[in-house]
Amino acid sequence: MQVIIVGGGIAGLSAALSLHQIGIDCRVYESVARLDPLGLGINLQPNAVRELTALGLGEALARAGILTAELAFYNKHGQLIWSEPRGRVAGYHWPQISISRGKLHEILLAAIRARLGRDALATGHHLASLEQRRDKVVARFTDPSGALAGEAEGDLLIGADGIHSAVRRHFYPDEAAVCDGYLHYRGIVEGEPYLTGRSMVVVGHRTHRAIVYPIADLPGGKVTINWLAYTKIPSGAPPLEAWDTLADKALAVERFRAWTYPWLDVRGLIARTERVLQLPNVDRDPIPRWSFSRVTLIGDAAHPMQPVGAQAGSQAVVDGRVLAAALIANADPVEALLRYQDQRIAAMNEMIIRNRNLGLETVLQLAEERAPDGFARIADVLSQEELETTASSFKKAAGFDVETVNSRRSYVELASRSP
Ligand SMILES: Cc1cc2nc3c(=O)[nH]c(=O)nc-3n(C[C@H](O)[C@H](O)[C@H](O)COP(=O)(O)OP(=O)(O)OC[C@H]3O[C@@H](n4cnc5c(N)ncnc54)[C@H](O)[C@@H]3O)c2cc1C
Repeated sequence: MQVIIVGGGIAGLSAALSLHQIGIDCRVYESVARLDPLGLGINLQPNAVRELTALGLGEALARAGILTAELAFYNKHGQLIWSEPRGRVAGYHWPQISISRGKLHEILLAAIRARLGRDALATGHHLASLEQRRDKVVARFTDPSGALAGEAEGDLLIGADGIHSAVRRHFYPDEAAVCDGYLHYRGIVEGEPYLTGRSMVVVGHRTHRAIVYPIADLPGGKVTINWLAYTKIPSGAPPLEAWDTLADKALAVERFRAWTYPWLDVRGLIARTERVLQLPNVDRDPIPRWSFSRVTLIGDAAHPMQPVGAQAGSQAVVDGRVLAAALIANADPVEALLRYQDQRIAAMNEMIIRNRNLGLETVLQLAEERAPDGFARIADVLSQEELETTASSFKKAAGFDVETVNSRRSYVELASRSP
């Protein structure tokens, strides 16, 4: 079997490694001419680290990132609403890793080159069209100048081409990205460790909030800190369609000017960041199907979601593993793609909607509505039960609660053992 993977991001590269692991040939076709280590911070939850460990990448990732130990929510006055242990500290057998997306991408890319060979990745190949012919799929690609770059024929095609997926557009030509009118200012900056030294914090409420976490240790005890600051798109702003355009830093600092707390200076982080970037808060509505005969979608192409609850990178990795397991378990590849879809689509569509409604972070909004001027005790505002249920139901729905992750084998191992 020969599989065409469209898109050399996190989903595409990790799926290629999974297919290689189970002995299926594949080639990744990536739009850009050169794959640079792009992006700022990203999170890998234990369910994804469990799978990346089964691919032999766990140690490299742990060395390159930070083993996150805590997730904590604060109101805009800097008062603690909820905190919970994360990763191994929470009892998982695998850590949660906060890491530079560029580093994660580099580690996946190095593994592809070492295991599948340099030919396994064709850069400068932008999917222009695809066609299913009986038991084959034909993909046509253009190069960065728009000229025809060639054709590929495969038994299956996996669309891993991100939030503006051309593969998805082939099946849903009238669908559009959805922006809620807000953006994320974002950046990375060197700083002192704060709180546990391995804490991810979310501060504020629905319309004005900041997410901060360290992503790497630096010499001398400092850390690289990743931050996102969510706020309304300024009026008169140019269209913000692309990833990461350069932002008006003074405006970003101004929007968060009061956000200085004894445990973390959020305003200071923004002010000290050399390049403040901006990213529109975009997702897409859930779709009813990902698999169409010999073509399927994974990662952001299947379920682009708002960056709430740190899910997109992890779910992209899990997709590739579930897909590989389905290919082991089903002799008929069309059946396998349907089986993969059926295992994943309901939960991921639910995540898209949960994330629009703040997911795990709903307690921030409840605290804001009930106590906009702050509180003497959090128990006067939110019951322990509300806090615990919000946290546990999100993790369960996303498939990364401690019991689920610790009690199962890797998806691929599981499928290999079934009769
Ligand atoms: C440049 C960049 C920076 C990012 N930075 C961050 C970050 O800092 N933090 C974070 O949490 N998430 C970031 N993301 C998104 C994050 O990688 C995804 O949300 C998540 O990991 C799911 O991965 P994915 O592979 O589905 O999508 P992506 O990682 O977006 O990968 C999609 C890939 O498909 C390629 N592609 C697109 N269209 C075509 C086409 N027609 N033909 C061939 N290839 C195509 C893209 O160039 C890209 O390499 C970034 C994505 C990109 C592309």
